[in-house]
Amino acid sequence: MDPVLSVRDLSVDLTLSGRERTILDGIGFDVAPREIVGVVGASGAGKTVLSRAVVNWIAPPLAIRSGEIRFRGQDLLGLPPRAMRRLRRDIAYVGADPMGALDPTLPVGRQIVEKLRAVMPEVSRQEARERVIALLDAVRIPSAHARFHDYPSQFSGGMMQRALIVDAMVSNPALLVADNVTQPLDVTVAAQVIRLMRELTERFETAILFVSSSLPVAREAASRTLVIDAGRLVEEQPTEALIAAPRHAYTRDLVAQIPVIWGTGPTVPAAPKTPTPKPPAPADAIVSLRGVSQTYRVKKRGSFAGTSELRAVRNVTFDIVKGDSFAVVGESGCGKSTLMRLLSRLERPSAGSVLCEGRDIADLSGPELLGFRRKLQLVLQDPFNSLPPRTGIGAMLEAPLRTHGWRDPKKIRERVRAVMDDVGLPVALYDDLPLGLSAGQRQRVNVARAMVLEPEILLMDETLSALDQTEQFKLLALFDRLQRTHGLTYIYISHDLAMVRKACNRIAVMYLGEVVELADNERLFFDPGHPYTRALLSAMPALEARRYRPEDCLMEGEPPSPIDLPQGCAFRSRCPQAFEACATLPPLLTVRGARDLAACHRVPGAGAALLAGAA
Ligand code: SF4
Repeated sequence: MDPVLSVRDLSVDLTLSGRERTILDGIGFDVAPREIVGVVGASGAGKTVLSRAVVNWIAPPLAIRSGEIRFRGQDLLGLPPRAMRRLRRDIAYVGADPMGALDPTLPVGRQIVEKLRAVMPEVSRQEARERVIALLDAVRIPSAHARFHDYPSQFSGGMMQRALIVDAMVSNPALLVADNVTQPLDVTVAAQVIRLMRELTERFETAILFVSSSLPVAREAASRTLVIDAGRLVEEQPTEALIAAPRHAYTRDLVAQIPVIWGTGPTVPAAPKTPTPKPPAPADAIVSLRGVSQTYRVKKRGSFAGTSELRAVRNVTFDIVKGDSFAVVGESGCGKSTLMRLLSRLERPSAGSVLCEGRDIADLSGPELLGFRRKLQLVLQDPFNSLPPRTGIGAMLEAPLRTHGWRDPKKIRERVRAVMDDVGLPVALYDDLPLGLSAGQRQRVNVARAMVLEPEILLMDETLSALDQTEQFKLLALFDRLQRTHGLTYIYISHDLAMVRKACNRIAVMYLGEVVELADNERLFFDPGHPYTRALLSAMPALEARRYRPEDCLMEGEPPSPIDLPQGCAFRSRCPQAFEACATLPPLLTVRGARDLAACHRVPGAGAALLAGAA
């Protein structure tokens, strides 16, 4: 079969301040109809430039030095703009940065309809509208009909990403270039998007160039994978062969960096059939949550005056022991970010208390509050927008010291140099602006900014999620060393279960504002007690055979709205194991083993009488 896309000897240069640098060097490959070809590599390897070159979007300071890009035999690089515009219905592109990609002044659905009709004028407005709503529904935009009329600002980041995927797919293109599209998505939604892409290849013979910084994600989607390192194509193989027997040293490193999730088998004892009593709060807890809830009043949809209660966090209780690497995981909207704000006292809870070494942090003020802020430091997610672009790196790290009363410039400089060294930042960068730093180096600056005050607890809010797997691997090694050297306690807020498997000893799984499972790492991955945890594990991309098959753990639909919580178990509408009693009785956290908990009627001991009726 003739390829849809043929790239030959493609080289792209970047010219900055009169200096030329090679970004892509002699790349060549084919993509056949219906084929999904993966492209993996570290950030900065040239993947995004390649994906933009393929859709003929290279603009200064980038320039194509040599090569050919043929779409259905036609050389795109020689096409006049008008002919290229005509091809836009057949070649679609979707990138990783969803915010700002659509016009903020027009409803999302209308923009996608306009785009579809611009490239396919033969489609009627009504038909276009129906097609867009069907696709919005297929990528699990809740209430797709109503959301069709919402503006971009009313969509969350994950929803915008899905809307852009709809925007790219709506004209049934012959070639779709998907540049890191699943990176900002939850594993369950990412799995759904990949399924949708596969359907597209089968129904419309669409070929997909699937660019990803994660090899496990590429494995989910692509039958063949290209590996790019420093602008060169270093390996190309069928994906399974590439993982089983990588030929190039760089690919071998990539494979070796992927955390092992299950390895050879379980090492955790099975949970006992009869529950043991709930253990008392440990004496060495550094952070404890007791019945913490957070409720917001929000404007009622479709009403000018009315308000509703949004219950973002509901009755959360757990302890984090000194030296723990504790993770809070769950899908977008599960309450993780609210919990992060409560833990860091950016907000006070509407009920319950957050204790730090026994003190309710809501009661702290003045020097005590400053002391708490020194003790618990936050490391944020976004390595690009979290650093002020016009402040030198050293000055950025000096600022927290000055806020906390340091006055001696010599001592301040010494402390900043020491912390830069500690996190692996060259001290020579002291007076530099963050402009030229890679994402990984920027995140090291963020870690240094948190570490400069010698905290005891680091609260990591999706700190690694914007980094490629090589940078993640290096930062996890850094966190491990810092923890051993300084006795730190880590709290990770994350949707990345592979990272959590590697880095955390204790894990809380949240669903719709509640902790539905709290367990040690081995128990959670080998013997999860809650169907939601199993569904998350079944959807996570990995290089190993899955322990939980997606078809057994299938989770359909969206979570209910936190404004209109259902009776009984909140997970019921998506649970493959739900039975009658789940509709009326909310499950309580039940002890499994020595100190693990899961909130499900099917946990042995949770309600034997209920289960007898369910069998
Ligand atoms: S209580 Fe029922 S609905 Fe909820 S997770 Fe367990 S089986 Fe599923």
